[in-house]
Amino acid sequence: MPTIQHDHDLLQSFLSDAAHVPGGVAAGVVFPIDANEVAAVIAACARVLPVGAQSSLTGGATPRGDVVLSTRRLTEIGEPRDGTIRVGAGVPLSQLQGVLGDRGLYYPPAPTFDGAFTGGTVATNAAGAATFKNGATRHWVDGLTIVLADGSILDLQRGDVRASDDGHFEVERGTGEVTIVQIPTYTMPAVSKLSAGYYAAPGMDLVDLFVGSEGTLGVIVDATLRVIPRPAVCVALIQCDSELQAINVTGALRSRAMAAWRGEGALDVAAIEYIDARSVALLDDPVFARAGLARPPGGSTLLIVQIELRAQHDPALLMLQELLNACHVDSDPVLALPGDDRGATRLIELRESVPASVNALVAGAKEAVHPDIQKTAGDLIVPFERLGQSLALYREALERRGLDYAVGGHASDGNLHPNVMPKSLEDVDKGRDAIREMARGVTAMGGAPLAEHGVGRSTLKQSLLVALYGERGIEEMRAVKRALDPEGKLAAGVLFAARTL
Ligand SMILES: Cc1cc2nc3c(=O)[nH]c(=O)nc-3n(C[C@H](O)[C@H](O)[C@H](O)COP(=O)(O)OP(=O)(O)OC[C@H]3O[C@@H](n4cnc5c(N)ncnc54)[C@H](O)[C@@H]3O)c2cc1C
Repeated sequence: MPTIQHDHDLLQSFLSDAAHVPGGVAAGVVFPIDANEVAAVIAACARVLPVGAQSSLTGGATPRGDVVLSTRRLTEIGEPRDGTIRVGAGVPLSQLQGVLGDRGLYYPPAPTFDGAFTGGTVATNAAGAATFKNGATRHWVDGLTIVLADGSILDLQRGDVRASDDGHFEVERGTGEVTIVQIPTYTMPAVSKLSAGYYAAPGMDLVDLFVGSEGTLGVIVDATLRVIPRPAVCVALIQCDSELQAINVTGALRSRAMAAWRGEGALDVAAIEYIDARSVALLDDPVFARAGLARPPGGSTLLIVQIELRAQHDPALLMLQELLNACHVDSDPVLALPGDDRGATRLIELRESVPASVNALVAGAKEAVHPDIQKTAGDLIVPFERLGQSLALYREALERRGLDYAVGGHASDGNLHPNVMPKSLEDVDKGRDAIREMARGVTAMGGAPLAEHGVGRSTLKQSLLVALYGERGIEEMRAVKRALDPEGKLAAGVLFAARTL
């Protein structure tokens, strides 16, 4: 059994995640090195919060009195075999991509923060810019080693355990005891990415119950992931003169990409990210200079596009130029060709600088106005055809409340993040209210209010989960939790309040 550590300074470094919610408290921190040690920790502790890189944007990796089970020493990486690789939960995605890159391979469903750990991305069913082409993490998980709340170790391969026709799993524990887990009956929205509580579908695989369960059903020790040959990616920065033009270009690129996947054409686009005019206004001049772009005129929006090239003289870039001409885009795109990693980083820095600028504004208001001021952000998704309508909805909900905001994200998925920059404590409440209104609107459009970041311990996101599936859906999730973790040991309070388990 690894030692549970209580050193003050060490504990301090585990008390918050990227949501920066104050008030984290840990009963200790522990660093197991394998499944047996994870099982021993769980047996010895009343409440355990598994954490990865703590890049959660939902407070899900902020301890509330739990022992923090850090996965950072679960770092074994196997040899890639038959298009899969077995990876320890504590391996950062950047390290995984490095190992794969040396072998000409790639793991596609990467979130934009590549410091996230493999286990954390599986636990949240993370998705990234290229979900449009590749789907979310779930599609790439072939197997999992999981430690349950009673210390049983499950070694699951996709296809091993499927739900019965009447909708339950029989989960066999290490002792031979079989637990019946009833699958929830709600219908999940048909969107390309969803991180909204437990996955539920007729005939589903047991692996899928754990993917996206946010630490509440078991600790992921390692994952077997599918990998592909590394694509040659060209990054293109496109300056549009308006929101409407950006939507039109995105729609045209999506159509060309889908044609390319059918073998009709070469413009194989994996990701299109959107930076709205308000976000552009937040960026400093040096960021534009490094990207090789003069500061665009007011009202301009930006798209960052990943194009996969298949051959040295690939006609894709010619097709891109023709498409931009047809959409009346005046400026030439700024390109970083495959192999130009520095150029690609500088273009992508434009996108990365937006949350940094938003966070700086929020931190300023927190210091100058009230310490409880927090960033409030939505993580909403709509079917792509509704993208323009969803942007109008976000704008209306935020401007009617007099809020300062910026919108950006994964346009090719219809998944955007409206960020509220509160200037007062009242603005924080108004921002949350606006996000609830947007959630109702996107749900009515066939979308969902919880696309990729998960639910965590955020009361706002937990209220969105109730709005999505109703109290009955939440009660069905609680029943799953009770079956696998009757004492509520693991990640208590994540997804739904712990006390009423
Ligand atoms: C700048 C930035 C950009 C981001 N961009 C994206 C994006 O594009 N797409 C996206 O999906 N997310 C994004 N995120 C959010 C975040 O990176 C993801 O949610 C990521 O998957 C979390 O991984 P982590 O290792 O940091 O997990 P943590 O934050 O440590 O934990 C997240 C949750 O998973 C549980 N958990 C962690 N590890 C395990 C484990 N081994 N077993 C069981 N449960 C576990 C925790 O209990 C917690 O509930 C971004 C975050 C930042 C800061």
